[in-house]
Amino acid sequence: MPLALQALLPDELARVCNIDVTDARRIVSTVHRTGGLPARSPATIRRAALDAARAAGHVPTIQIETRAASAIDPFVKYAFRLPDGAVIETVRIPLEHPGRFSVCVSSQVGCALACAFCATGRMGLGRNLEAWEIVEQVRRVREELAHDPPTNLAAAGIRPRVHGVLFQGMGEPMANIERVIHAIRVMSEPSALAIDMRNITVCTSGLPTGIRTLLREVPAVRLGVSLGSARPGRRRALMPIEGAHPLEEVLAAAGEHARATGRSPMFAYTLLAGQNDADEDAAALADLCLAFATAHGQRPRLSLIPYNAIADGTTPDPFQPSTRLEAFRAVLLGRGVGTIVRYSGGGDVGAACGQLARPLERGVRGRSSARPSEAPER
Ligand code: SF4
Repeated sequence: MPLALQALLPDELARVCNIDVTDARRIVSTVHRTGGLPARSPATIRRAALDAARAAGHVPTIQIETRAASAIDPFVKYAFRLPDGAVIETVRIPLEHPGRFSVCVSSQVGCALACAFCATGRMGLGRNLEAWEIVEQVRRVREELAHDPPTNLAAAGIRPRVHGVLFQGMGEPMANIERVIHAIRVMSEPSALAIDMRNITVCTSGLPTGIRTLLREVPAVRLGVSLGSARPGRRRALMPIEGAHPLEEVLAAAGEHARATGRSPMFAYTLLAGQNDADEDAAALADLCLAFATAHGQRPRLSLIPYNAIADGTTPDPFQPSTRLEAFRAVLLGRGVGTIVRYSGGGDVGAACGQLARPLERGVRGRSSARPSEAPER
């Protein structure tokens, strides 16, 4: 099986091909800039090095199946078809600073964790993504921004660029942590995608070992934790992973991350009418945030996410959006806990938080390539 060259770092390519690392760096740069290897050796790369790279690997890609630009905001959702026929979704998110974008990437085909408020959770797990399939989502979005920039930016003479990456698309990234970490290393490599690790956030629904691995391997990366509820019984009903890994365990690992990095984690809380939006839910959430700050010296950044509809043709919506957002925030603020309300755009094209989903292709379900060390923790 040839190696996917866009998942190799320059020193890995140099080792595999027995070539000079300077040549390897230039080959990596070419692969990420053009999505392939040049037919003829450019003046900057020795022909023997290019031939060795060509013999060792190839540059597979993922095809854009659909591209849906929201009519209500500048979010864009891509459905990418992978070589085995599986389809994943990726979202291009405009940042406040004009010309900067974040890419919300998928790390698995589907997801095994079955959070009740998430469309991906209804799919079940197809398989883990390979590192190159994760990297390629960002590379394809970057390529489109370069070749076909949004008209308002082009008119203003602003060159758009991918500034950050968010692992909050389809799948639980901590359940595919080795490949996620490798993809992060490639994304942040200056000759590859050159994205500052501090602008990469990995969000988990609660796998403590994955949090510790992330801390050990790529400590500059930011951590997000999806809470669901601060009340264990309620959380378990919304997020079955609570049964295997109670929130207490997850927060202990997040606390280690916060203490070691000196950075606050992001806590995400999806507000669901009548499920987790009562005053007592807000009070429990405030207590949790304050206890975390006392124990670990970092106050979490609390992000409230309005629920986005996930009904499809066959399954109705299990929840309704909360109408208590301001009342909920007031209870938190009364206890000294500030919040951010996440604008989750692209709702009209199914790009908003919790909405990513695709029917699993025949044969993809259960064909997980997860090795035991990468499988969800029990
Ligand atoms: S919220 Fe994340 S972990 Fe939960 S089912 Fe959806 S994709 Fe999986």
